[in-house]
Amino acid sequence: MCTCGIEKKHKIWRTATADGKDVVGWSDGDVTWAFGYAIRGVGLAHSSATAGADLRASWALRENVGMLDANEVATAFNALRRVARQPLTAACSWRFSGEGWQARDARAVIFRALSKESA
Ligand SMILES: [Zn+2]
Repeated sequence: MCTCGIEKKHKIWRTATADGKDVVGWSDGDVTWAFGYAIRGVGLAHSSATAGADLRASWALRENVGMLDANEVATAFNALRRVARQPLTAACSWRFSGEGWQARDARAVIFRALSKESA
């Protein structure tokens, strides 16, 4: 259940990309366009095993949505999810600080994924 106490799936954040498209984070770790429209290439967060990781990825995305264009959101979020689902190891280049990653760590993950895609 969400920390706010609501059991039903609900919006936990909503913010716009650099080019003005709204992105919404949901309490179960899903991330969609406005009104729940699926983002092409982003799977739903159905597994309870990955729900915590998907929520961390969701919050990390939220901090960075404003610097992304809409066509970069899927790549950025999938990269964050991949990193968030990995078990924590000393080799990890990012730190988990309670609420979420420090912004610069999430940003590094996003930039790496986007530059790989455009290479
Ligand atoms: Zn909530």
